[in-house]
Amino acid sequence: MKMDGVRVVRRLEELYLCGAHDGGAYSRLAFSEEDRKGRELFASYFRALGIDPLTDAAGNIIARLDGEEGEKGEKAGAPLPAILIGSHLDTVPGGGKYDGALGCVAGLEVVETLLSSGKRLRHPLDVVVFADEEGARFGSGMMGSGAFSGASLGDFSPTAEDSAGVKRADALAAFGVNWKEMGKAARERATVLCSLELHIEQGGSLFKSGTPIGVVTAIAGVKRREVTITGEMNHAGSTRMHDRKDALVAGARFISSAPEIVAAHGDAYSVATVGTIAVRPNAVNVIPGSCTFSLEIRDQELPVIERIDSELERRLRDVTEASGTTCNFRFISSTSPALMDDGVKNAIIKASEEAGYSCSLMPSGAFHDSLTLARSFPCGMIFIPSVNGVSHSPEEFSTEEDIQKGCDVLLRTVLTLDNTGLQSGA
Ligand SMILES: [Zn+2]
Repeated sequence: MKMDGVRVVRRLEELYLCGAHDGGAYSRLAFSEEDRKGRELFASYFRALGIDPLTDAAGNIIARLDGEEGEKGEKAGAPLPAILIGSHLDTVPGGGKYDGALGCVAGLEVVETLLSSGKRLRHPLDVVVFADEEGARFGSGMMGSGAFSGASLGDFSPTAEDSAGVKRADALAAFGVNWKEMGKAARERATVLCSLELHIEQGGSLFKSGTPIGVVTAIAGVKRREVTITGEMNHAGSTRMHDRKDALVAGARFISSAPEIVAAHGDAYSVATVGTIAVRPNAVNVIPGSCTFSLEIRDQELPVIERIDSELERRLRDVTEASGTTCNFRFISSTSPALMDDGVKNAIIKASEEAGYSCSLMPSGAFHDSLTLARSFPCGMIFIPSVNGVSHSPEEFSTEEDIQKGCDVLLRTVLTLDNTGLQSGA
C-alpha cells in the first residue's frame, strides 16, 4: 500500500488557490469566504470517494471511513473507538500551503489509499478538519478542537470582532454554526482510540539536521506576562546622566539579559520572548518615564517555565532597584504543556523504523489542535521538515519527498494502531 505524495501536493495547491485575494495574497481566515471554498473543496474530495462528511456543532468537518468490527458484549452493535486524523484548513493572513492543510489532506490520502487497496480497518477512521485553529481572525485559536474536546469555550466570545467589525457569532452563523450550541460538538472520550496530526515543523530543527520525521513528545506550554518599568520622565537635554531614572534603559538591560537566564535555567528548547514594547511618552526629547512590554516563556515542562519565570522576575527586580526605577510583573495567562501519548509515540517510532526513515523526538514550541485534544484523548503528532523552518508565510515549503515520507509514516502508524491498539510499554 503506497500513499500518493504527488496527489497530496496537487491537492495542497488546489486548496491554496481557494485562498486567493485581489492583489495576489493568499489566506483562508476562519469562517471567511475563502475558508468556505477550501472546506467545500475538501468535502468534495471525500464525496468523490462515496463518503459524505458531517459538520458538527462547532463547524468541524468529520469524514468517517467505517471500520470492520463492532463492540462486543454490553455495547454490541456500537462501532469500536475511532482513530482520528485531524488538523486545520484555516490560515493566518498571507499564510502558506502546508500549515494545517497537510494534516487534513494526508488524512484524506490515508482514506483513499485504504479504499483503493481494499484494506479494511477494524476501527473507524475519522478525518477531522478542526475549525478556527489559528485564531487569526477573532484573536483566540483552537476553537473547533476545544469544542470537540469538551474544553471550556470561555475564550471564544460571541462578540469578539474581526478587523472589519464582524462579530464571531455572526461569522459562525453564516456557516450554520450557532455559538450557543458549540458545546454539543464535545466528543465522548470512549469513542476515540487516539488522535494523529501530521504537520510541518515550525523552527527548522528537522530541516537543519536532515531528519525526515519528528515524533512530538509534548506541545510546549506558555506563560505570558506584561512588564511595566516606571522611572521618571524628564527633559532629555538638561537632565544629567547620573540624575536620570530612565525606564527604557532599565528595560533594555533586563530584556538583553533574558537569553542568558534562559540558557542558565532552561533546557535545549526553552524560549523567552519580548514581542511588544511601548514607551511613554515616546518623544525624542523626553527621558522615558515608563515602558511596558510583553514577556512570554515556553517550555515542554511546567517546572522549567516556572523556574525561568522566577529567575526573570529576580533579574527584573535587581535591574530596577539598581536604576532607581520600579516594576510591575503582571500575570496575563498560562497554558500548561500537553504531553503526547506514549502508545501513539511508540506507534509512530515503529512506523518510521519500518519505513526506513530516521526520526527524532522533539517538542513542539508552537500550538496545534493536538494541544487541546491531548487534554481529552491520547494524541500523537508527526512533524516533517519545513525548508529553513519557515511557517506562517507564503514562503513556507516542504519538499514532495518529505511529504511522501510523512504520509507513509502516518499510514503505517494508523495500521499499527488499528492492529494493536495503544501499546505504551517501551
Ligand atoms: Zn497548524
